[in-house]
Amino acid sequence: MSARDKNPLSSPANWSASTRLVHGGVERSQHGETAEPIYLNSGYVYPDSDDAAARFKGDSPGHIYSRFSNPTVETFQDRMAMLEGAESARGTATGMAAVTVSLMSQVRAGDHVVAARALFGSCRYVVEDFLPRWGVETTLVDGEDPQNFARAMKPNTKAVFIESPTNPTLSLVDIAAVADIAHAHNAVLIVDNVFATALWQHPLELGADLVVYSATKHIDGQGRVLGGVVLGSQELIGGDIHAFIRQTGPSMSPFNAWVLAKGVETLPVRVRAMTDSAARLAEFLADHPKIERVYYPHHKSHPQYELAKRQMEAGSSMIAFEVKGGQAGAFAAADGLAVIRISNNLGDAKSIITHPTTTTHQRFEEEVRLEQGITPGLLRLSVGLEDTNDLLKDLDFALSAV
Ligand SMILES: *Cc1c(COP(=O)(O)O)cnc(C)c1O
Repeated sequence: MSARDKNPLSSPANWSASTRLVHGGVERSQHGETAEPIYLNSGYVYPDSDDAAARFKGDSPGHIYSRFSNPTVETFQDRMAMLEGAESARGTATGMAAVTVSLMSQVRAGDHVVAARALFGSCRYVVEDFLPRWGVETTLVDGEDPQNFARAMKPNTKAVFIESPTNPTLSLVDIAAVADIAHAHNAVLIVDNVFATALWQHPLELGADLVVYSATKHIDGQGRVLGGVVLGSQELIGGDIHAFIRQTGPSMSPFNAWVLAKGVETLPVRVRAMTDSAARLAEFLADHPKIERVYYPHHKSHPQYELAKRQMEAGSSMIAFEVKGGQAGAFAAADGLAVIRISNNLGDAKSIITHPTTTTHQRFEEEVRLEQGITPGLLRLSVGLEDTNDLLKDLDFALSAV
């Protein structure tokens, strides 16, 4: 036994969180490369026909085809499972693939799904438009009161889908309360945890069965690739989720998995820095005379501040705020910014401002937007990694034009 073998840190089980994210899931090739290798291959060769037969039968481990599994995708999945504290994870081509897989794998025609009304636009489309086309009935509820979920549950409800904080007004759903309601009806709770991030909110500990992410956001965090991930128990992920991805093909590209696995290494450092800045900017915006109101989970003015403190360790990197003067005010503010750029992505190192009424939420009827607090003066800010003082100055200058 070498000295290293006697070191307790030889076992990944003894690593703390950030160490796992840097060293976890690495499978070095015979070249001993420092960074993770990219296995950019679709297929695999077998030593002989018996081995090929055994792998297809499931009697021998090893990869078969990259639609089912790939070593670089596994590195990403292992790291995400470590970050989330989940038994298992599967990467997908995009965040929407993760959402679609998590829902479609749990239901069949004749079932019922309950979801919170305030959802990322495409998530709402899947729930409201696609599921009913396939004979799955859906009920959308106001997610702020858990009793609304209890009232909507039916004997055939198989899944409850929520996002917290929501896009774009950062309203919260009480995850633990909704998990209890879902489980009392034998339904699974699926949580889209993009806005909170894996650093600040732990849906599985709060009782959720599946957590989904758009890895395109904070996990990449540098605006390069699309990706998604579904996490949960070995039973759910290794069962229905794996089968659905394997047979229908929304699989993650190994190249994207490599970019995203490198993103996971720095996620805690990045999200912490973005969150520190966001908390300062929220304070600044809340006191600004050109601002009607600010939405930030850990700001005292948030209507669900107590829940935010209980459920989220920090307020994360997203802020929404309503500029005085409606759409003209919001456009004037956005157009006066020089460092913060107008775009619709989020979780990026570059700060991004979005006008939901005319972009991400333009397809909805005005009445549907207003019921979610998406007023013409609302702007959504994704706080990046720039110097906080530059961001403060940028906002202050732009707001002076309102
Ligand atoms: C971006 C996003 C998605 C969709 O992810 P893509 O990677 O763009 O497919 C789903 N949910 C939330 C909350 C998001 O922000």
